Amino acid sequence: MLIIYKECENTMADYMPFPGWFAFIVGACIGSFLNVCIYRIPENRSIVSPGSFCPNCQNSIPFYLNIPILSYIFLKGRCKFCQGSISIRYPLIEALTGIFAVLLALKFSLTPAAVYWFVFISVLITISFIDLDYQIIPDRISIPGIFIFSSSFYFLPEMTLFQSFAGILTGGGLLYAVAAFYYLLRKQEGMGGGDIKLLAMIGAATGIKGVLFTVFTGSLLGTFIGILTLLYTKNSDTKFRIPFGPFLSAGAILYIFLGDGLIQWYVGMISR
Ligand SMILES: [Zn+2]
Repeated sequence: MLIIYKECENTMADYMPFPGWFAFIVGACIGSFLNVCIYRIPENRSIVSPGSFCPNCQNSIPFYLNIPILSYIFLKGRCKFCQGSISIRYPLIEALTGIFAVLLALKFSLTPAAVYWFVFISVLITISFIDLDYQIIPDRISIPGIFIFSSSFYFLPEMTLFQSFAGILTGGGLLYAVAAFYYLLRKQEGMGGGDIKLLAMIGAATGIKGVLFTVFTGSLLGTFIGILTLLYTKNSDTKFRIPFGPFLSAGAILYIFLGDGLIQWYVGMISR
């Protein structure tokens, strides 16, 4: 029985010389769904019905014109019915989600950890683009996210339920303290409550170590991009708000792939 099973496994591998393609296709299809979420959740509309339609002419898009990435290329970025241009962001988000699926498959192969991190990264992509568009992180995603991603102990060998709780408190508490301090200092809100709930969600998934890494890396990336934006925009309005959500998300994703390596490298540097 065991031998037969082994043989089946081999033939599977033969049929799929590069399982990464499979991961990419699945990832791109989920990315297509994330586009729907990014577009509809901030407007409080259903993400399941109606099916996809052109935002310009309202014509519904049949499935054969809704193939991730390929349809955009075949239609040359234009709606088949009204010739209205389709944002390049749709295929880019599909490709991005597909690439993360491949990277996860390479790092974790097909394990519960890979599935868990894929769901987590999908939620972070959705949150990031909504934050870019609307400068909000919807509670409709982050609050259920805190509960759902507390299941990390079930999927990740290194996590415990206690680690998740500690991560939620660190993420939520730390940012809340920073926000309160900033408010006392400047008498204006610097960081939104949405960021705090997002960081609590990241803490649920990655624990104390992960959430501290995320705050540190996210702030570093945010400061760097913030300075570049100030240098290269004529707009001298300093209240111009750069959403923090995408940077925190980038920090958390960096932690999944490179966190342990980077922490070891940093500890090695300072203890030399
Ligand atoms: Zn159209």
